[in-house]
Amino acid sequence: TSHSTYDYIIVGSGTSGLVVANRLSEQKNTTVLVIEAGGSVYNNPNVTDTLGYGKAFDTDIDWAYKTTDQEYASGTQQTVRAGKALGGTSTINGMVYLRAQAAQIDAWETVGNKGWNWKNMLPYFKKSEQFQDPAQYPFLDGSGVAFDPAYHGFTGPLKLNDGLAQKLNATYQKLEVPVQYNPDPNGGDMVGYSLFPMTVHSELNIREDAARAFYYPYHNRTNLHVWLHTHANKITWKDGHNAVASGVEVTLSNGTTTVVKATREVILATGALKSPVLLELSGVGNPDILSKYKITTKINLPTVGENLQDQMNNGLQFDSKTSYYNKSADYVSYPSAAQLFPNSTAVGAELLRKLPAYAAQVASANGNITKARDLYHFFKIQWNLIFKYGIPVAEILLEPSGTMYDTEYWGSVPFSRGSIHLSSADPTAAAVIDPKYFMLDFDLHAQVQAARFIREVFKTKPFADMAGAETSPGLSTVAAGANDEGWADFIKDNFRSNFHPISTVAMMPKEIGGVVDSSLKVYGTSNVRVVDASVLPFQVCGHLQSTVYAVAELKREGSGY
Ligand code: FAD
Repeated sequence: TSHSTYDYIIVGSGTSGLVVANRLSEQKNTTVLVIEAGGSVYNNPNVTDTLGYGKAFDTDIDWAYKTTDQEYASGTQQTVRAGKALGGTSTINGMVYLRAQAAQIDAWETVGNKGWNWKNMLPYFKKSEQFQDPAQYPFLDGSGVAFDPAYHGFTGPLKLNDGLAQKLNATYQKLEVPVQYNPDPNGGDMVGYSLFPMTVHSELNIREDAARAFYYPYHNRTNLHVWLHTHANKITWKDGHNAVASGVEVTLSNGTTTVVKATREVILATGALKSPVLLELSGVGNPDILSKYKITTKINLPTVGENLQDQMNNGLQFDSKTSYYNKSADYVSYPSAAQLFPNSTAVGAELLRKLPAYAAQVASANGNITKARDLYHFFKIQWNLIFKYGIPVAEILLEPSGTMYDTEYWGSVPFSRGSIHLSSADPTAAAVIDPKYFMLDFDLHAQVQAARFIREVFKTKPFADMAGAETSPGLSTVAAGANDEGWADFIKDNFRSNFHPISTVAMMPKEIGGVVDSSLKVYGTSNVRVVDASVLPFQVCGHLQSTVYAVAELKREGSGY
């Protein structure tokens, strides 16, 4: 750690940051520094154990961000988890590897991000990937596991394996609107019932996080340095009118504060609940907010921290007539609107009528910093994705566990949008995070309908024969046939963040509220980029890590690799 000048400084060694660090440092003449607030978790069993999901929560490697009291939900705070370690959130996540519906990525281009479409991104999904054919690992129950090699990479750093298999298939075929088996949900069409890969090193049976894939095998590159236990406070700027970053102010593990210099670029990869705050601390944001904390505005970019989108996660539980031990099989179904809503056309028509009011409500909640006109445009795109392109409108995960069946579910694309902003000029202070869960009523309806769908699946044979009674919420809490109102309390009192926050540094044209351009450069700067989940303009139906990895991999103008 003797150097104090690098070509590139990457702030955050998470899912996205380590991909960019790896690709930049492939070039021997390029020096790269990665700054990370957390430490190494290489030997942390709460990380490596593939059955240990949740063990790391509320330990020192979980930021456990708190939201404001959520007024449209039960009025209380939510915890949004995020990893604080070399490897970032990939060290504590659920390891699910599921991409997006092709039409959703194409929508990024529709709003003006040239070149960001499914076809262009598919090679970058594959570039990272080292798919491990389940047939090579006989201790996995590979029955029924399918994948299409056209959609997978086999030589990248990130090892994926396939989940275990079982048959819910016959049941899904018997629903009123059948849900078909989809052999490979990672090919751009997610709709259906599927098994899915996980980010697991099959041979060692340990979590394959970003550090294990993109850092440790390359750690002896002399041009790649990582400073752990080092907190980034803000970007420093060169003198003069233009916003040219000179480096990053950091507080080292010994408590001293110093500035590291970057000759080329400063790249933020601190995640959707930190990168917007780091921009604000650096004077990039809404002058009305910055001035409250006596931060001089370097770049007037009022939408920094707006457009926060997350999903809401609920669960239903049932008894099982079989005991499941030593298995972590998960089954996913992704119903389209036509499969989820019995009256899909009417639901679509009603929602379409409400979109102008939704747009006005979101705009007014943030003081018209994002414009109703632009929000309406985004909502219309989302409506088209749901009702014309038939993207999955919910995700339903079913996991046999001991003597019960656990389900988790969420509406894939809520319309509600909130914000995150700093609350102090102190870089270690907690931010004000307000996702506005359930602000718009369609979001509750989708969440309720997913719960009804699960009840239907558990009533349908042959699966119904394997399942017992619903234990949570149970029919005495939410009666059979309950309307949305009847479900609302259970859902709002028991949901959690789905831990998929995005869009707080949105990639879009500046005129419609974007913070970074299609090369991920912050408007108004010549050398600051953001490469993490903050830049996703719209929510995706899969889980975020696959898309975050691919966004970081993508060769874009000025990416340096
Ligand atoms: P991160 O990976 O969070 O990286 C940010 C890094 O920046 C961290 O290492 C952090 O410590 C560091 N940092 C932050 N502030 C500072 C600072 N000031 N100074 C220095 N360093 C700093 N996705 C899936 O695809 N599948 C799943 O199964 C799944 N399950 C999830 C389960 C949980 C509990 C959570 C929280 C998320 C889950 N996700 C899942 C989401 C996915 O893992 C994340 O969206 C993704 O990893 C985010 O990547 P990122 O690069 O944006 O940020």
